Formats: sequence, structure tokens, C-alpha cells
Amino acid sequence: MSEEICEYYGSMVFNDQIMQEKLPRPTYQELSRTIKEGHPLNIEVANAVAHAMKEWAIEHGATHFTHWFQPLTGITSEKHDSFITPKADGTAIFTFSGKELVHGEPDASSFPSGGLRATFEARGYTAWDPTSYAFIKDEVLCIPTAFVSYTGEALDKKTPLLRSMGALAREARRILALFDKEPATVATTVGPEQEYFLIKEEDYQNRLDLLLTGRTLFGVDPCKGQELEDHYFGAIRPTVNRFMQELDAELWRLGIPAKTKHNEVAPSQHELAPIFLTANVAVDANLLTMEQMRKLASHHGLVCLQHEKPFAGINGSGKHNNWSISADDTNLLDPGSTPEENLQFLLFLTAVIKAVDEYQGLLRMSVATASNDLRLGANEAPPAIISIFLGDDLEAIVRSIIDATPYTNDGEITMDLGSQVLPRLIKDNTDRNRTSPFAFTGNKFEFRMPGSQVNLSDANMVLNTIVAQSLASCADALEGSEDFETDAKAYMKQVLTNHQRIIFNGDNYTDDWVAEAKRRGLLNLASTPEALPQFIAPESIALFEQFKVLSRAEIESRYEVKLENYSKKINIEALVSIRMARARFIPAIIAFSTAVAASIAAKQAVSETMDVSSELALLLKLNTGINTITAGVETLTDTVAEAQAVRDPQECANAYLNTVLPAMNTLRAAVDEMEMLVGHDYWPVPSYNHMLFYA
Ligand code: ADP
Ligand code: MG
Repeated sequence: MSEEICEYYGSMVFNDQIMQEKLPRPTYQELSRTIKEGHPLNIEVANAVAHAMKEWAIEHGATHFTHWFQPLTGITSEKHDSFITPKADGTAIFTFSGKELVHGEPDASSFPSGGLRATFEARGYTAWDPTSYAFIKDEVLCIPTAFVSYTGEALDKKTPLLRSMGALAREARRILALFDKEPATVATTVGPEQEYFLIKEEDYQNRLDLLLTGRTLFGVDPCKGQELEDHYFGAIRPTVNRFMQELDAELWRLGIPAKTKHNEVAPSQHELAPIFLTANVAVDANLLTMEQMRKLASHHGLVCLQHEKPFAGINGSGKHNNWSISADDTNLLDPGSTPEENLQFLLFLTAVIKAVDEYQGLLRMSVATASNDLRLGANEAPPAIISIFLGDDLEAIVRSIIDATPYTNDGEITMDLGSQVLPRLIKDNTDRNRTSPFAFTGNKFEFRMPGSQVNLSDANMVLNTIVAQSLASCADALEGSEDFETDAKAYMKQVLTNHQRIIFNGDNYTDDWVAEAKRRGLLNLASTPEALPQFIAPESIALFEQFKVLSRAEIESRYEVKLENYSKKINIEALVSIRMARARFIPAIIAFSTAVAASIAAKQAVSETMDVSSELALLLKLNTGINTITAGVETLTDTVAEAQAVRDPQECANAYLNTVLPAMNTLRAAVDEMEMLVGHDYWPVPSYNHMLFYA
């Protein structure tokens, strides 16, 4: 079995091993230089690579190729072109040129650009990202690409991420140079933990809300939720297990190192974590993983829900973004055994703390979507307030630097497990506090705010850029220092003193913390419309322009696309709510109340003294329910019409937040109340009880 898996691992990827095998030596060397050092590729090399890629792809059953990219919707896009070239004699051959490999021109007028691409120049261009391997999926050779406009502005998620990785690498090198180190490669690494739900396909098909919005817009809490804590890490049910097996196999074929899988906290919720990769490759792999999950679920009669909050009342899904920086395969955030003496580690740590405090708003912005708003701050995920968890040891070290007092190490605490047969464990001093939005977890930071369906490019683009800036100011302060160690300590003392408010080791889910954070002056941006303006704040624009990650025009267009996406998502939810209330719930309640009325009439026909008071009371409640729902539909319809009429994108999003969402919630409450009263056979959609618990 293991041999078989190792045999097929990466078999659908044009990886380094295949390149060495298939490419002439000089071509391989040129390509390696491009991949490792970012050298531009000349057309002869591109032609040779394209030829080898095509031959390999055909061997593996491919008939088409596509430039695979990530427009501002955040999801992946592809348009398949066949390798077919007809010949004069009526036959055909398969061809694929270097030009077709490195450069594409999809008709891009239907992708969001936030006004960046004028309509007279609707074309966009895709450019090969040779650092992310090409792969085959469904008989199509997929070439990971960046997507830019005619004038070179980024129209995608990948381009700014790549730029930010470059910026961080440059500034990290300046710090490493202070320690006489000149690594060949510096890269940001990312390991995303993907949460998701699996429900039965027939239930999904029966709910318009799930089909069109990815979440249930109505539904009473299940009688049993997650209170017994019996699902987390529980035995995996056979149907789900078969799905997970097929998923692992497909991911391994695609060279995605799927590692950990388990049941999550909520019923029907699961998680998959791969081994970390270079940031852009990790994002590509995550998007591919999400796509495979959706596709393969159908083989098992299941549907994979990747929405952040498919069900109210139980946990939603996140995507923890584990992040670090590596230099020639050493992890720069590894504290080592004596972190208090590890000046290089402490400087990087200080830089992260400063960056996160200064740009809290940008980090919050990077994960702001309509669906993630339903999760953040709902006592299941971190609140919308950014803070850093360091753990007792690192916090004590930081404190000793601020106070200029010696740090005393308690030594490694080994836990006595009270049994000779169990191994002795070293107590992990870092995070097992799961409530922090940004936690140091041993040798990396774990950003826990991203939602399950988000493209992680934005979060990592922000993280990389803000840390790049922080490292740059550190390098500015220390380059040319006569007494490096003393100056470095003084620098850290000053920076940590200024930014210590961002460190919080306590429980982030409490109201006390919300009050305390307010006293500390930390931002609490509860909703997407409140968070997005952080993107266009003057200091954000200055930051991104300084590091050439995004231009002002690119930022403004992205801000607009995000705002529009928010309004459109809630608009769709509102329309689905109205439709379901009118076409599904009101008729069902009428049908049930007619049956109740008929029963009352029938009983009274038998005997006028028959006590029908309970049925009468029920009938009255049902009748009130129909009226309340009808009124709710009317109010919601009005608020939607008003919001749709608002022209300014920010004001429009505000209207969806402040008037449409509350009207949707009122309507939901009225419908949910009826779900508790109406007979099971009359209720027109599957209930939470039914959807969340299945064999
Ligand atoms: P948890 O306790 O949160 O489940 P794990 O130890 O399982 O954490 O790791 C979670 C993720 O962190 C995995 O995807 C792992 O590959 C990733 N990870 C580990 N080290 C690094 C690193 N240096 N950089 C980025 N991600 C990392
Ligand atoms: Mg984790």
C-alpha cells in the first residue's frame, strides 16, 4: 500500500523530477534558475519546456491545456484549449508552443476588475508562474498563472502575493546580513487547515438557500448540537471515510501533501491539513484541494459545504493560516532551545509584533467577507479584534526585554503522566489557547481569522508586506551599528514597549476582553463594511506602494470589488429568503393550518362540547405566523429595493449591513418559530436535525 502510494504521489504533476528526466540539461538548468532566482525565461527555453510538458501531458491522457488563474473573485478560472492543430492534408497533430506556455489572453471582460480595465481594453493577460508546478486534472494540463491587465496592473490574487513574497524576502535578507548570513532562498511558508461540512446530496438539492448561497437562511437549531463534544476527533463514519480516502489519493496524485484529517467540533464538520509549502504554492494547493473536495463528495452522495457558516447555532468553518519565514530550509521563527539568547529570532519576533499592532486593520480587512462576518466574534472563532498570543515563555522573555530585567527560565517542564508505560512529554509552553486570532504556535504564527472559503492570498499578501515593512525599519535602525548587540536590544526594548498592547494571552471569547481591548485602543471592526475602508487608508496605500505590492489604482479597484461582492452576496441571500418564504414556507403553513382547521370543524361537527382549545390556539399561532412572515417579506423586499438604489459602493454595503441583514434576520425568526409548530410532513425543507445527523 505505502509503496503504491509513493509510486503515484505527484504522478499528475510536472515536478522537478519529471523536469530533470524530460528536459535537456541546459534547459533544466535555465528553468531552475528561473524558478529559484526569478530569472526571466527566454523563448528557446520556453519552447523546450512546452514541448516536454506537452509530451508528458499526452502520455497522461491530456487533450487540452489551460492557464489556471485566480481572478478577484478568489476562485480559480480555467478555459480549455485543445492541443489540436489541423494540417493541410486533413489530418491533425498535437502542438504546444513556448508562447502558449508563458502567455495567454483570456477574454477577460467578465471578471471583476473594479474599474481597472477600461471597456475598450477588455483583454487580460495570463503569465506563467513557474514556481508552482503544472499539473493534470480531468484530462487538462493546468498551468498556474498570474492575471494582469494590458497595462500590467494585477487583476488577480496571485500577482500581489508573489510581489509581497519578494518584498519580505528582500527585507529579511537585510536582517540576516546583520548576522553575516546570505541564504540562497528566503521564502514565506504557509500551511492552511481547511474545515468543511459534508451533508447528503438529496438534502442539499431540497434547499434553495444551500444551493444558491451555500448556507441555510432558515432553520431551527438541532435538538442535539455539539454540546456533548462527541464529534471532535470522533471515529469517522464509513461514508465520510470513503470520501476522505478518495480525496487523499487524488490530492497525493496532484502532489498535495495531505497529512491530517479528523472530525471537527460541529456535527458533520471535518478538517484536512496538508504539510506546509511555499506561500503561493500552498495557496494554489489549497484552492485545488477545495475543488477536489467539492467534486469528489458527489461520488459518495454527499455535498461539501465550504461556507463559513452553513448552519446557525453550531460552529462555522475557518481556515487557519499557519505562517512562517524560511531561509534555505531553516525556519526563522524557530526559537531554538534558548530563545532568550537567540537575537536573530527575537528580532524577527519583534518585527511581527510591531507589524501586527500597526496594521491590525489591514489584517482584519484581509479576511473580511459577508460570510466570515457570521463567524468572527460568535464565540466559536476569534472576535474581530486582532491580538497576539505568545505563550508564557515568550511573553516572559518579551517582558524581560521591556523591563530590562534578566529572564529566568523555569526549564523544560516534563509532565508526569503517572504511568511507567507512557512516554515522558515535554510540556508545550506555546499555544493551546485556541481563542487567539494570531497565535505563536511553537515555530510559526497561526492566523485563525480567515474563513473556510477564502482565497488565502490576501491574508498572506498583507502579512508579508506588513512584516517586510517592520523588518525594513529594523534594518534601517541597525545597519551600520558599531555595537550591534546593545543596539539591537535597545531597539527591541523600544519597539516592544510601544507595541505591547497587542499581546494578549487570555481568553479572547469573553466580554471582558472586548472591554479591555477597547481600553488598549485596539480596533474592533465587527463587519466587512467597517473593515474594508482600512484598505484605502492613506497609511495602507503608502505601505503597499513603498513595497511595490499594490499601486493606489490596484488598491482602489480591489476595495471596490470587495464592497460589491459583499452587497451582491447579501442581495442574493435576501432574494432567496423572500422566495423561500413565499413559495415554500407560507404555502406549507397554510396547508398545515387548513388541516388543523378541518380537524376542529370535524370534531365540532361530531360534538359541539368537544374541547378543541389546543387546536384553536395552534391555529391562531399559525395564522399569526403567516401574517408575520408576510409582513417580514414585505419589509425585506422594501429594504432590498432601497439598498439596490444606493449608488456609492460603500454606502450600498452599509445599507445591506444596516437594513437588509436585520430584515432578513427578522424574517428568519418568524419562519423558524413556525418550523417548531408545523407538522413534520408539512415542513417543505429538510431540518437541521435531519441534515446534520446521518448514517
Ligand atoms: P494544529 O495543532 O493547529 O492542528 P499542526 O501541528 O497540525 O497544528 O500544524 C498545522 C499546520 O501548520 C500544518 O499544515 C503544518 O504543516 C503547518 N506548519 C508547520 N510548520 C510550519 C511552518 N514553518 N510554516 C508554515 N506552516 C507550518
Ligand atoms: Mg491549528
